[in-house]
Amino acid sequence: MTDLSGRVALVTGGTRGIGLATARALVEAGATVVLTGRDEARAKEAAASVGASGLALDVTDAKAVSSLVRGVAKEYGKLDIVVANAGIMEDALLGMIKEDVVDATLSTNVAGTLHTVQAAARAMMRKKSGSIVVLASIVGEYGSAGQTVYAASKAAVANIAKSAAKELGRSGIRVNAVAPGVIETDLTAGLSEDAKAENAGKTPLGRLGRPEEVANAIRFLVSDEASFVTGQVLGIDGGLVL
Ligand code: NAD
Repeated sequence: MTDLSGRVALVTGGTRGIGLATARALVEAGATVVLTGRDEARAKEAAASVGASGLALDVTDAKAVSSLVRGVAKEYGKLDIVVANAGIMEDALLGMIKEDVVDATLSTNVAGTLHTVQAAARAMMRKKSGSIVVLASIVGEYGSAGQTVYAASKAAVANIAKSAAKELGRSGIRVNAVAPGVIETDLTAGLSEDAKAENAGKTPLGRLGRPEEVANAIRFLVSDEASFVTGQVLGIDGGLVL
């Protein structure tokens, strides 16, 4: 079992789905975990359910991200692990893409991830150690009809991991991305049963993924077991892209 005792971790967008499963997995490995959500009451309730602490944060607000990350590092004396998980997805065919969806997707998925990685790097730089994981997606590498904006945002997220890994490696900070396939969360709840069955059918493992399966991979990447792994985009998709 991965041992994260003594580590301090922050997970953004942790009120449900992959973020909540990740917070739970890190707590189970012994870490002190702070999870964030846009709504304070929901963040506290979700955090209490997994033995973490909950704080309110909208990742599109760069100043709020910076001050929350600084505050967590100050309160706990350090920050070892940051999982930039918050993200949104709204599907539309090319001709139907609305400008507000472009703005919201890029400001949450791209700028929000960037703000989180920047703030994490500042907090980790003092101790010259730390591990960051960002949430990309298989569609960021392979594309997806009806998901041009989301796919573009996730391609950017994968590159945030690679570029930040190059920049921060000498400071002892590792940065990796996970690229989930289709995972059963609220994000994919809107898919029709036919679309779910089609995706499961195309997947060599014959089913969709569970949030815990992404969380387990994230727990590995942030742990010392992955001490020589940085700048990677790890697919967690049951083999869907093969
Ligand atoms: P979800 O919708 O269940 O959870 C997303 C979380 O992000 C929620 O807690 C939400 O409140 C939070 N969030 C959204 N906008 C935010 C903002 N501006 N500030 C702070 N928090 C915000 O989705 P999920 O499936 O758990 O997805 C988690 C991450 O994994 C996302 O980045 C998503 O793009 C990525 N991902 C998911 C899948 C999948 O199949 N579920 C596949 C690939 C990638």
